[in-house]
Order: sequence, then structure tokens, then C-alpha cells
Amino acid sequence: MDNSLSNRDQLVNWHPYTQMQTAPPPIGIARGQGAVLYAEDGKEYIDAVSSWWVNIHGHAHPHIAARVSEQLSTLEHVIFAGFTHAPAVELSERLLRLLPQNQSRVFYSDNGSTAVEVALKMALQYWFNQGKDKTKIIALEGSYHGDTFGAMSVSERSVFTRPFQQYLFDVEFLPVPVPGNEEASYEHLETLLTRQDIAAFVFEPLVLGTAGMVMYSPAVLDKLMELCRKNGVLIIADEVMTGFGRTGKRFACDYLTQQPDLMCFSKGLTGGTMALGVTTCSQEIFASFLSEDKTRAFFHGHSYTANPVACAASLASLDLVENDLFLENLDRISGSHAVFAQSLSGKPGIKACRQTGTILAIEFEVGQTTYFHSLRDQLYTLALENGVLLRPLGNIVYVLPPYCITQTQLEKVYQVMEQMRQLVAGSF
Ligand SMILES: *Cc1c(COP(=O)(O)O)cnc(C)c1O
Repeated sequence: MDNSLSNRDQLVNWHPYTQMQTAPPPIGIARGQGAVLYAEDGKEYIDAVSSWWVNIHGHAHPHIAARVSEQLSTLEHVIFAGFTHAPAVELSERLLRLLPQNQSRVFYSDNGSTAVEVALKMALQYWFNQGKDKTKIIALEGSYHGDTFGAMSVSERSVFTRPFQQYLFDVEFLPVPVPGNEEASYEHLETLLTRQDIAAFVFEPLVLGTAGMVMYSPAVLDKLMELCRKNGVLIIADEVMTGFGRTGKRFACDYLTQQPDLMCFSKGLTGGTMALGVTTCSQEIFASFLSEDKTRAFFHGHSYTANPVACAASLASLDLVENDLFLENLDRISGSHAVFAQSLSGKPGIKACRQTGTILAIEFEVGQTTYFHSLRDQLYTLALENGVLLRPLGNIVYVLPPYCITQTQLEKVYQVMEQMRQLVAGSF
């Protein structure tokens, strides 16, 4: 046994979404720069999944590092009840300037799951405060909103949630309005909305990430939102994955004419530097909590609510988001993905190819899905051996890169995806 990180880790750590008995040893990463991760054994990996979708400007970005470092020696943390600080005030001001114009208040928490919990609790208490019996949530089939109990409840029931099934609250699931399924989905929602007890509709706008980068159009989402609006149902847009450029615009909601009542953010918020969650809401939601009566307040908070260092990281990230280069990179990556997707069309092994902005997903043709599980691991290993980090979701492999990824690096990622295709095509 050498004294590598990889070996020491195996004696003490428990990793997320990992079967610890059979998983290969984790790769020890010594440092990161731009889109590249440098391992302790000298190998390099292109981070084509932005380290679980969080990293948008590249690793160890000097501008974010400088801002965080400055904040650390100014104010590392302060209680956020009864107190405030410049990074939180400035971040909220700047976020509200960028978000749909009806968003008027910012509530901080720690991650994407808590941002969703907060939105759900705000929506439910909005009705409770008015003495209205609206308690049911509508979510999309296949959705993923996080791993806490509330977030799990509004997510697809799956092997992930099975052990906790009896503790999850009941949700009405709506078929995703993927191309060809728009009408069915709309009609299903119409039927659901004849009920009087629907509190809110929560969804991942345009792209359902964990479901396998399942995509649907802004036009149909606008229609669903309009229907909710007409029926007095609150609209919660979970932009935890789609926020900050992923879909080719700053926010997925920038493609829409309708505006959500509540929005959730996390992954790209700090540029992938620190854990921070944000839930924003309209003035109407906020106002329903205002009263002389203290029991109508929103009773939710975390020890590290609005941590100044995390807010500082977000401010630095926003500097980069508001730079011209940001939109140029989104266009460059989107254009490049489109060309690659085109080149795959009709090739053996390809079942479908989907793209929204900087997210490209390839669905492989696989006969027996049971056989596929080992193939998924083979594909993952094949990519790593070629110096690219890609994490297939079942038979779907996607690229979702930091926006600083160079054209040369992107070409290498595509090359590995093409190798994957050849492996799949040769297996059947
Ligand atoms: C990742 C994700 C979450 C959960 O965020 P965490 O920070 O992992 O808790 C919620 N919603 C969506 C759409 C996500 O992609």
C-alpha cells in the first residue's frame, strides 16, 4: 500500500452515490486549472461534466480566488438573523437585476436541495397564511430536485428513493412535454388543475438533468405556466442546474415570456467554488408573510445562511457572468456542440442526440438494458483512460463543460464520445 490519497481515502471516506464495496478507488486530484483536473499521479483529466455541473468558469479561477481570499480576512461569517453584510446585500441586488423582473426577494440557504425545500415551504405557507387549503404539489415525471426529504418527495420515485418511500409526501406527476408529447402533457395539467387543492407546480425548466438531459421547448413551458397562472397555482422554477448560462442564455427562464413565482439556484452560483443556495420570490409571495403576527414569519434558516465568503465567491462569479466573454463562450460551445451532433446523425449506435445550449446529450442504442449496466462502467472507464471525465447516466452520455473549455479540449471530448459510440455499435 502506498501512501497515496486514493489509498488513504479508502480507509476513512464514504462517497456519494457510490457502492463502496465494488467501486474502483477514487482518483486523487492535486489541483485544477481551467477545464483540467490534475491527479496526484500526474495524469490529467478534462472536466467535461463541470464537477457535477457546478463549475462554470474553470477550476481555481484567479478572480474568484482573489475575491474569496480578501473576504476571508474581512468577515468570514456573521449570524444572518438581526444582522447583514455587504456581500449578501450586493449579491441580492445584482441577482435581482439579472432575474425575471417580478423576482423581488432573495432567501439564502446552503445548496440546491435546501433552495428547493425553501421554495416548497414558501409556497405551502403562502397558502397557509391565507387560510387556504392548498397543499398538493405538481412535479414532472423523471424530475430530480435534490436529496432531502421534501426535495426527494417532488422527485421521480426510483431506486434512489425506494428505502424512504413511506416518508415521502404524495405528489402529482405530470408527463414531460417532450417533442410530440406537448398536448398530452398540457391536457394532463388541465385535468389536474380542475382540483382546488393544488398549491404549486415545480419543474426543471427546459432540461431535466438527472433524468438523462431530457429536453422540452420554451413554448410549451410557457403554455403550462400560463395555465397554472390562470388557475392560481404557484410556479417554482428549479434553475439549480440550468442557471448561469447552461442553456445558452443566462437563465433558462430568459427563454420564456411567463415568469415564475419562485426560483431556485445553486450549482453555478458561486462559480462552483463553494456551497450556497438561493431561493428568490415575487413581491406577492413575500407580502403574504408580512403581519403584526409573528407566527406568520418564515421559520426557516441555516447556521451558515448567506455566508459572506460564499456570497463573495458568487459576486466574483457574477463579474465573469456579466463579462462579454461569457456570452461569447456560450455561443461558441453551443455552435460547436451543434456541429458535432450533426456529424453523429444516422451513425450506428446512436438512438438520439439532444442539445440545449452548452448541454449536449447522446442516447446510445442498447438492446438489453440489463446488459447495459456493465457497459456504462466500461464507457466511464474508457473516457477516464483517455483523459476525459464523462459520467454516463445509464445509456446516455452528456457533455456539460466549464465555459472556458478550449476548442482543442472540446474536440478531444467529442473524440472520446465518438470512441464510446464505436464501442456501443460494436457490442451488438
Ligand atoms: C443538483 C440539483 C439539485 C440539488 O442540488 P444539491 O446542491 O446537490 O443539493 C436540485 N435541483 C436540480 C435541478 C439539480 O440539478
